[in-house]
Amino acid sequence: MSTPTGFMDYKRELPADRSPLERIKDWDEFHKHFNSDQLRTQGARCMDCGTPYCHTGIEMPGGTSGCPVNNLIPEWNNLIYRGLWREALDRLHKTNNFPEFTGRVCPAPCEGSCTVGLIGDPVTIKTIEQSIIDKGFEEGWVVPQPPLVRTGKRVAVVGSGPAGLACAAQLNKAGHSVTVFERADRIGGLLTYGIPTMKLDKKIVQRRVDLLEAEGIQFTTNTEIGKDVSADQLVSDFDAVVLCGGATKAREVEIEGRDLKGIHLAMDYLNGTIKSYLDSNLEDGNYISAKDKNVIVIGGGDTGTDCVATALRHECKSVTQFGTHAKAPLERDQASNPWPQFPNVYTLDYAHEEARALYGEDPRQFSVLTKKFVGDENGNVKELHTVQIQRTVDETGRRIYTEIPGTERVWPADLVFIAVGFEGPENTIISQLNLEQDRRSNVKAKYGDYRTSVDKVFAAGDMRRGQSLVVWAINEGREAAREVDRFLMGTTMLP
Ligand SMILES: Cc1cc2nc3c(=O)[nH]c(=O)nc-3n(C[C@H](O)[C@H](O)[C@H](O)COP(=O)(O)OP(=O)(O)OC[C@H]3O[C@@H](n4cnc5c(N)ncnc54)[C@H](O)[C@@H]3O)c2cc1C
Ligand code: SF4
Repeated sequence: MSTPTGFMDYKRELPADRSPLERIKDWDEFHKHFNSDQLRTQGARCMDCGTPYCHTGIEMPGGTSGCPVNNLIPEWNNLIYRGLWREALDRLHKTNNFPEFTGRVCPAPCEGSCTVGLIGDPVTIKTIEQSIIDKGFEEGWVVPQPPLVRTGKRVAVVGSGPAGLACAAQLNKAGHSVTVFERADRIGGLLTYGIPTMKLDKKIVQRRVDLLEAEGIQFTTNTEIGKDVSADQLVSDFDAVVLCGGATKAREVEIEGRDLKGIHLAMDYLNGTIKSYLDSNLEDGNYISAKDKNVIVIGGGDTGTDCVATALRHECKSVTQFGTHAKAPLERDQASNPWPQFPNVYTLDYAHEEARALYGEDPRQFSVLTKKFVGDENGNVKELHTVQIQRTVDETGRRIYTEIPGTERVWPADLVFIAVGFEGPENTIISQLNLEQDRRSNVKAKYGDYRTSVDKVFAAGDMRRGQSLVVWAINEGREAAREVDRFLMGTTMLP
């Protein structure tokens, strides 16, 4: 333990973010950094408690509790306190191939289950994680480490999101020759085309891809498996295939007026902006612009929040985000949401802070159901009709939504983004290989085993689990690599 009374002696502090009104003028990351002394103090708050839930990574009601890659959190907190940064970096890389991604975008279920959080504010685990890896890169400690010996086995990984990249990194470490196939023009999956640049600078993604390439992994972009190369061909060409294609099939809303102009899927909006920004700093105009528009985002989750932040940077006229869920309480409800569950409390995400700074209020509307879209004489959307709803749960635990009479409302809108979630993986590879699917249409493969119903074919990440988190994708990619290695070699040293 760093110091037995650190959690009483020091308060939780986070580095200040860039000011909301300043940061909406650009597309740069919004987090600032702490210096070494400040981090040392924050590391000292870790109690190195007897049962550190922070690194458990288990599913509980309401979400994940603890770190899904089982980061050795109390160990690196202590190393930071002692100023042993290089040793902290080694510990961090033992469990996480890409802490520079999770340190930026993870919702930090570790902090929700931190024992200090039982009596006060949790340790700033995510900030410490990011600082360790950022310092590692600054100091030149993170260098390519190609394997010394090659096994002669060839593995294809389909999809270059965090699951595919983690899987490829681990398989390459074990000496297998790995080719990653990606249909997009850039590597990274949702790390590149999905999560906006202000949360994760794409140079950070490319820096890791360059390292993986220098370690011997081959990347083939602009190649869709199932179309450019058949899935059967891939299975016969390689000793094993790992499917990490994500769960990218967007869920739709079936509402009157959906076919009006100006109503788009959130991913078309987000990805168009990111691609245009990377290709031409938005000068090619190949994106949906929200400039001077009244924007409504349907969907209260993270994708919807990213649409709000993007619309603000496009200089929209107004932006409102609808969610069907009720506003969360200000403090954790100990009866229905006890520690170490992920705390369901009202917070302002980065986009909400920005909208509040600009327009004076939280842009979210809670417990709202969209009933219909109405258009003008040219077929452009001009308004949304909504009603407030109340959520109850019946005796079987099923959610029931009831409309509250008299709460109908009309909202002007020039642009609407639909961000109501994802339905699962796309079907092309699944049908070509005749893969079994689970009841949610994901590729069927047991967690921890990752073998699909077809010999030599494994599945990991969102394609197996459904739309989830970067940290779960890294966990699954790492574990799937271990199982592929065992399948190819009969035994494995991979964790
Ligand atoms: C807008 C948005 C924001 C998010 N923000 C966060 C966040 O802040 N924090 C967080 O933890 N999680 C976030 N998530 C979730 C997270 O990004 C995903 O859970 C994670 O990226 C899943 O990783 P994956 O590798 O399984 O799949 P993906 O990242 O989806 O990658 C799959 C890749 O496979 C490729 N592919 C698919 N089919 C084929 C094929 N047939 N041939 C070749 N390539 C193919 C796709 O092009 C894609 O590049 C967000 C998700 C979205 C949509
Ligand atoms: S990966 Fe996420 S859950 Fe794990 S330590 Fe980092 S922030 Fe916490």
